[in-house]
Amino acid sequence: SQTLFFFSLYKIATSSDFSESLKICFLYLSPPPSFIARSNNIRMLEKKVETFNMNRVIEDFEEMSRNADQVQIQTLKDILLKNQSAIYLKNFGINKNTTDPEAFKALVPLVTDFELEPYIQRMVDGDTSPILTGRPVPAISLSSGTSQGRPKFIPFTDELMENTLQLFRTAFAFRNREFPIDDNGRALQFIFSSKQYTSTGGVPVGTATTNVYRNPNFKSGMKSIQSPCCSPDEVIFSPDVHQALYCHLLSGILFRDQVQYVFASFAHGLVHAFRTFEQVWEEIVTDIKEGVLTSRITVPSVRIAMSKLLRPNPELADMIRAKCLSLSNWYGLIPALFPNAKYVYGIMTGSMEPYVKKLRHYAGELPLVSHDYGSSEGWIAANVTPRLSPEEATFAVVPNLGYFEFLPVSETEETEEEPVGLTEVKIGQEYEVVITNYAGLYRYKLGDVVKIIGFYNKTPQLKFICRRNLILSINIDKNTERDLQLSVESAARRLSQEKIEVIDFSSHVDVTTEPGHYVIFWEISGETEGDVLQDCCNCLDKGFIDAGYMSSRKCETIGALELRVVERGTFRKVQEHFLGLGSSAGQFKMPRCVKPSNAKVLKILCENVVSRFFSTAFD
Ligand code: AMP
Repeated sequence: SQTLFFFSLYKIATSSDFSESLKICFLYLSPPPSFIARSNNIRMLEKKVETFNMNRVIEDFEEMSRNADQVQIQTLKDILLKNQSAIYLKNFGINKNTTDPEAFKALVPLVTDFELEPYIQRMVDGDTSPILTGRPVPAISLSSGTSQGRPKFIPFTDELMENTLQLFRTAFAFRNREFPIDDNGRALQFIFSSKQYTSTGGVPVGTATTNVYRNPNFKSGMKSIQSPCCSPDEVIFSPDVHQALYCHLLSGILFRDQVQYVFASFAHGLVHAFRTFEQVWEEIVTDIKEGVLTSRITVPSVRIAMSKLLRPNPELADMIRAKCLSLSNWYGLIPALFPNAKYVYGIMTGSMEPYVKKLRHYAGELPLVSHDYGSSEGWIAANVTPRLSPEEATFAVVPNLGYFEFLPVSETEETEEEPVGLTEVKIGQEYEVVITNYAGLYRYKLGDVVKIIGFYNKTPQLKFICRRNLILSINIDKNTERDLQLSVESAARRLSQEKIEVIDFSSHVDVTTEPGHYVIFWEISGETEGDVLQDCCNCLDKGFIDAGYMSSRKCETIGALELRVVERGTFRKVQEHFLGLGSSAGQFKMPRCVKPSNAKVLKILCENVVSRFFSTAFD
């Protein structure tokens, strides 16, 4: 059928590996005798992809989104075919004849990472039998998982690599149509590849981003759609992330006229980078003036690579100094440093929203473009409307990246409803995303809540809402990460009247007191009167508008909320702790709630408390 043909073309066009293209060709294109003639066309197609044809990538997405329902059926078939020998699937009675979604859903249960953990652990331990996937996986991803207080293992496969490239191409096509960048330009990218290590079972383990960056197909696959980084590879692969960040900033300034956009995976990373710039800019200016790298850079490979870029340039140094001194409270820092940048790019939605305000301050008039939606488990949706602000951003599900189901999230959460298919979702409804992918996850509840905002052709456009897990709950109260965020935002408005900002925050449920109470940790940018912070504390308490919380507060089954202000730099210590555990700097997300099991982080926060306030809001 036309859809099948389109689907095969799409897979071929987006496959980074020619032998893979041939395999797909055998699977989908018929009859086989015409194959040889077609393979020449495929070669041509491949060539076109290498040079990147924006309009064609957009047309392909248009076509695929028009046929989203058919593409989903075909994708599931393809996943089951590839993994038909997997023990996990066989255990549930899946065989080569199970190809339709209804049969699949009847046999395979919904699961979370908890149920899959023993299977994945066997893979990590080096068992190469077909456990979750038909073939042994080439690597394991380490999901940041900071919300659970521990890293999570996720299978990484070549298909996930292909999906990544496909999604990047799609998003780039739409982004570049709106904000065309200069072909000869560069990108200032705050990217950090952490180390892969080999498990005792001999499997490479790293963060998903590291597995992607270190994949041999990544560089060639990205060539046609990515401006080269300002920084040398040695900086990206530096074992010391602080030194890498300094060098990213320095490299960006050395190539300042060529910088087309500024990127970090998460808004947090962008804000962190420019806050660091505020502290080190004079050192950077000195390096540029004298043409000698500061002694703080000690990693030999990084020193050698950076020294090659530097030569004395007093003119540039003076210009940067003058620019920095002319800014008012660093407003518009990014366009001042990079006059030809077209936009600032990174994940700015969900738990990154608290950083958008500060980022906008640094970005001045430059558009903030929200990066796509995905996870270590796999990519889900692309930003095909890049002009929307981070507050409005939506993502269109790419229907061939996996088989997607959506589990309705009900207000009461009393009854678990049945998940619906990709094209059956309803506008305005919130769902938890359920993924079946090429990398051994079957009907896997991702834990993310999304809201359907509309449709792009037949595929849903969604907004990321929050992680499903409740983070603050003592009895009948239910507060999610989003609720915490809203409460912090409202209290931060009180603080901003004093020209002070909340640099970072986290929370904790303290049940060592009777009754238990919420504790909010704040790191703030300056000193202020105790009564201002007392107001903020009351505001935080009133900010949780969940009925269960308010009634519990009124009848004192939940105690007064406590605001603990921590010393400057405390959240940096928390981040360093996670980096030490193997999280990558680019992937890091501040845990918004610290569970008692995460004793180390709780200790860091508690040891650095400088003042405490208890809410009087319900007195
Ligand atoms: P990780 O597995 O460590 O890569 O983290 C993936 C998680 O980050 C997802 O499950 C989401 O909760 C969150 N995330 C990823 N992309 C976005 C996005 N565009 N907006 C908001 N949150 C996101």
